[in-house]
Amino acid sequence: MPQITRASLEALDERDELRPFRARFTLPDGVVYLDGNSLGALPRATPARVAEVVAREWGEGLIRSWNDAGWMATPARIGDKIGRLIGAPAGTVMAADSTSVNLFKMLAAAVALRPGRRVILSERSNFPTDLYIAEGLAALLGQGHELRLVEGHEIPAAIGPDIAVVMLTHVNYHSGAMFDMPAVTAAAHAAGAVMLWDLAHSAGAVPVDLAGCDADLAVGCGYKFLNGGPGAPAFLYVAERLQAGLRLPLTGWLGHAAPFAFEPSYRPAMGIARATVGTPAMLGMAALEVGVDVALAAPMAAVREKSLRQTTIFAELVAEHCAGHGLRLASPADPARRGSQVCFAHPDAYAIMQALIARGVIGDFRAPDILRFGITPLYLGFAELWDAVQTLRTVLHDKLWQDPAYQVRRQVT
Ligand SMILES: *Cc1c(COP(=O)(O)O)cnc(C)c1O
Repeated sequence: MPQITRASLEALDERDELRPFRARFTLPDGVVYLDGNSLGALPRATPARVAEVVAREWGEGLIRSWNDAGWMATPARIGDKIGRLIGAPAGTVMAADSTSVNLFKMLAAAVALRPGRRVILSERSNFPTDLYIAEGLAALLGQGHELRLVEGHEIPAAIGPDIAVVMLTHVNYHSGAMFDMPAVTAAAHAAGAVMLWDLAHSAGAVPVDLAGCDADLAVGCGYKFLNGGPGAPAFLYVAERLQAGLRLPLTGWLGHAAPFAFEPSYRPAMGIARATVGTPAMLGMAALEVGVDVALAAPMAAVREKSLRQTTIFAELVAEHCAGHGLRLASPADPARRGSQVCFAHPDAYAIMQALIARGVIGDFRAPDILRFGITPLYLGFAELWDAVQTLRTVLHDKLWQDPAYQVRRQVT
């Protein structure tokens, strides 16, 4: 393997077919942003679009905009666009609510599809909100449902005839490890279980083919690789074959068959609208749609190819330039088995990340000991990887992280 130099990375940048996408984002000077898997960067078109919705559609159109500006149709329109990123046909995805709330809705509906079974199977290192939502649902149901947690590699063997729902995050938030979605979905179906995928770290980052693997239900996040902005609306997916029979726990008026008939009793809509609850947050939707449009403009095969190259180069540079400082690769060594992030474990990961952030290299820390670096091919250049690793090298070599200021834990890590 020829040694990587900054010049060789600059050459990759020059040949990079995704390079023009960088100009579609606003990023501060002096920052290498490696946290787009936690909060995506600001698309350049977002401020004007949000301002337009505020001033013209809201300010002038007032309530007429629900019809005239197409507000009411927005969640389904954005849903269809997100569907194109995750292999879901039109009419199976809705932009709505938050990931946590959508997970509650989808999990409750999934459990109701398997009345004779009591076990929800998931991964112990799944993102905590997913596990907390499952615990809360089990307690609410009061029917003895159990959340059974195993390690990721134990999942296939744990899928048996007692499992009602297999609930997994496709790309693990902590390690970046990625499940084989077709294989796990097939195993769940073979055992008669419902398959519920969380695509928070997948949508816009890795190829997903929900219809191709016959997935049942899914949820995902709008503010990570979809660049929808802080707290952006999330999304949910219901396979077409399940929509008409799905029993949802939140029966709001926008999930009603005829919301503006104002009937006193709930009658579910027949399509995906059944999975929505109340009035969509239009300012958030407007920002989300800009982010989704940018993601849709990039060919997913090129995004994945660049992501694989970048995660591989980043890991190699860290191995070469930061050796001897106790960093351990905490993501799968095989690039094909990881999503779009690279993680390293280190006992002083928190302070090291604080020292990096103070020097403009922004990643994040995940308890107890993970340095997490998100790779976002739409706005991350190859030469920036070099600069980030040189900063990491300096922080480790000169022990800059030992500064007491970097030991103070802040609310968001
Ligand atoms: C980011 C993320 C969430 C976020 O949930 P919110 O309701 O938006 O806070 C949920 N699940 C996973 C797996 C995530 O990565």
